[in-house]
Amino acid sequence: MVYPDTFEGFAITSGDQWQSPKRFEFKPKPFGDFDIDVKIIACGVCGSDLHTATGGWGNKNWPLVPGHEIIGHAVKVGPKVTSVKVGDRVGVGAQISACLDCPQCKEDNETYCKEQLDTYGSVYPDGTLAHGGYSSHIRAHEHFTFPIPEALKTEEAAPMLCAGLTAYSPIFRNGAGPGKKIGIIGVGGIGHFGIMFAKALGAEVWAISRSSAKKADALKMGADGFLETRVKDWNVPHEFTFDMILNTASSDDGFDLAPYLSLLRVHGKFISVGLPEGEGSKVRPQSLLANGCMIGASHLGSRKETLDMLQLAADKGIKSWVETIPVSEKGCGEALTRLHNNDVRYRFTLVDYDKQF
Ligand SMILES: [Zn+2]
Ligand SMILES: [Zn+2]
Repeated sequence: MVYPDTFEGFAITSGDQWQSPKRFEFKPKPFGDFDIDVKIIACGVCGSDLHTATGGWGNKNWPLVPGHEIIGHAVKVGPKVTSVKVGDRVGVGAQISACLDCPQCKEDNETYCKEQLDTYGSVYPDGTLAHGGYSSHIRAHEHFTFPIPEALKTEEAAPMLCAGLTAYSPIFRNGAGPGKKIGIIGVGGIGHFGIMFAKALGAEVWAISRSSAKKADALKMGADGFLETRVKDWNVPHEFTFDMILNTASSDDGFDLAPYLSLLRVHGKFISVGLPEGEGSKVRPQSLLANGCMIGASHLGSRKETLDMLQLAADKGIKSWVETIPVSEKGCGEALTRLHNNDVRYRFTLVDYDKQF
């Protein structure tokens, strides 16, 4: 172990070597007054890790350690940190920095700050490349370090920090609650949180998926109904009934937007959080005329929403559906490969960090 001068992790060494992460030692950014060093005990495996590792979202600075659903214990806190003590169990999600001073930051929209930095793959002002949670430690500003409620298990809390928040923020901001009907496209890592959180907020929730393969699971997660889009005219009985649809699909191959939009009430919203690698769908204003619907997107969420979401999960007993895999060169490669093959229900969390670091 080389802490505190360097950290160690499992890095992707190039886009064509994504299935074979390699042990890698790296230097973290300089320690700041508001920083916390976290000794990692678990990390979820996000679709972003895969898109990044394969180079699908463009080439990166290799080697690069992925992982942005991180749980660990604070081992060092800066002199100006007030919200975390050494020993606390904390989480770090997909955003690691923002200016905290611009209008967006001051209005709980730090995820839309022009200076926002991703937890891994971004470059700090001093030139340090940020690495993620398939590693021994992470250094994060306290604004992006979240105390984890005691009621949440580590491996279940981890995936909430990106997938959970990505679903929670747009659902919450669009008023999911009693009397609202919410659709969730895609029963996957993000989608399964969409179903559980929309339900916990009191909305009527429908899962929308190509086939009925995940119907039983979606109903177990709390979905009130299930729409199978390969059925002819699947949308017709539900036209003009949905207040909002959250699109979590990360591929848009063969995706025909029209029947989805037809589900929306007047001025209903279609919000995408999946980020396909291709060119995406083409939209003409004419497609939006029948109900005056709106199309948008959403990025992560705020610190405030993260804390609210974790508390909601603790209060309502929401349990992420996770499979754990021991962290290692082999384990990280296996998790990415199985995610690539869609062989996951519905999230992997890397564990057993004390055996590697
Ligand atoms: Zn800002
Ligand atoms: Zn993520």
